[in-house]
Amino acid sequence: MKVAFLASEVIPYAKTGGLADVAGALPRFLAGLGADVKVFLPLYRAVRTKGLVLEPVIEAASLEMGGRSLDYAVHAHRADRVTVLFIDRPEFFDRDGLYGTAAGDYPDNGERFAFFSRAALETMRALDFSPDIIHGHDWQSALAFAYLRHVYGGDPFFARARTLFTIHNLAYQGLFEQEVLARVGLPPALFNMNDLEYFGQVNALKAGILYADAVTTVSPRYSREIQTPEFGCGLDGLLRSRAGVLHGILNGVDYRDWDPATDRHIPRNFTPADLSGKKVCREMLGLEFGLAAPEDRPVVGMVTRLAGQKGLDIVCEALDDLMGLGLTLIILGTGEQKIQDFLLAARKKHSDRFGLKIAFDERIAHTIYAGSDIFLIPSRYEPCGLTQMYAMKYGTIPVVRATGGLEDSVQEYDPRAGEGNGFKFLEAEAGPLVEATARALAVFKKPGSWRKLVGLSLIHI
Ligand code: ADP
Repeated sequence: MKVAFLASEVIPYAKTGGLADVAGALPRFLAGLGADVKVFLPLYRAVRTKGLVLEPVIEAASLEMGGRSLDYAVHAHRADRVTVLFIDRPEFFDRDGLYGTAAGDYPDNGERFAFFSRAALETMRALDFSPDIIHGHDWQSALAFAYLRHVYGGDPFFARARTLFTIHNLAYQGLFEQEVLARVGLPPALFNMNDLEYFGQVNALKAGILYADAVTTVSPRYSREIQTPEFGCGLDGLLRSRAGVLHGILNGVDYRDWDPATDRHIPRNFTPADLSGKKVCREMLGLEFGLAAPEDRPVVGMVTRLAGQKGLDIVCEALDDLMGLGLTLIILGTGEQKIQDFLLAARKKHSDRFGLKIAFDERIAHTIYAGSDIFLIPSRYEPCGLTQMYAMKYGTIPVVRATGGLEDSVQEYDPRAGEGNGFKFLEAEAGPLVEATARALAVFKKPGSWRKLVGLSLIHI
């Protein structure tokens, strides 16, 4: 079976969040099942500067888009039985960021990702790779489904392809002005409510939801949540109308990348049977952040985008009370300026027990999963969430808000029944967050119970 996979970020090439992890791991597993998988990804500067040896596949091609002839090349990299095909057009992709800079999104993101989607489809044809499945992810790949329906409709090359669109986060929709349709070579008539219009703008995500044969999202609960006005981001009606083909499938993890027994990022490896290496990771984590990490004081870690979605505003509000519980808090993240500013000021106040790094750093992230006792994820909404799964694999107990994939993957610990793998709170407020953390701390103080809980959480993984 031939599978074409379109994603705007894929590990180990380019990553800003969980999409990259899944878009890296899933093709490997499909290839392991015998599928012939080709992954399409823009050739960003971040990839260009990695020093990979890329094989030229198409040296010069061009496509017509909105009256312009756009040149591009295609290069390949093969690993784990998966071929990744990079769409190379420096004007669009040889830039500092994937989607923008600190100043905001790139203003031509509509054209950039429409071009990526279109060039991916053209490349399938040029390589005579006639896919059985075309699987696109998030708004950056969604216009592929508009092209398939409205530009390539009836084209025998794509006639047998079945199409699948996955929503990793409904809040990011790719909104552009009406004129973008003409510029990217889509019929301007699609600017109507039943196609791509959304409150006076073009909504790229709608193309995936409307035109793909099937739509998935990344947890069963999130698939139900997004059909409600509260979580539907204005698209709940459309999603309800597609309920028959909408499925929630919890993200998987490639434990070859996330296994404390083999992880090359962490200071000492360990296994569920022998957690002694975790102690070393904990000490080294303290050193990394310039903090003492006495054994009787729990280390609470966070690896997160600094964004409202992730509940960082709730953490800011709860910070003094959290510190009042007598824990050490360690946060690694990048994101909104006002959250950064608040946390930087709070670090000064609690400098002996609060460690903070404003950075995107894979090695430090792994060290936090490995070296913390507790992992905090207070998201306002969470399509799936991967960090709780990584934490549990490293014997680190999650404290999460009960929403989306967090609700699906974490069960409240019940010491009497000896069941559960973490702690949850329902209301997105400081009080419940602090209470749930305090429940975790109460168990932490009883080493026998804590060891049992860590064992339970490892079994779930
Ligand atoms: P989202 O994609 O919404 O940000 P997920 O939980 O699905 O959230 O995935 C987040 C991924 O990004 C994880 O692999 C996590 O380790 C990683 N990550 C987030 N922030 C950072 C950071 N500052 N440094 C390194 N990795 C990070």
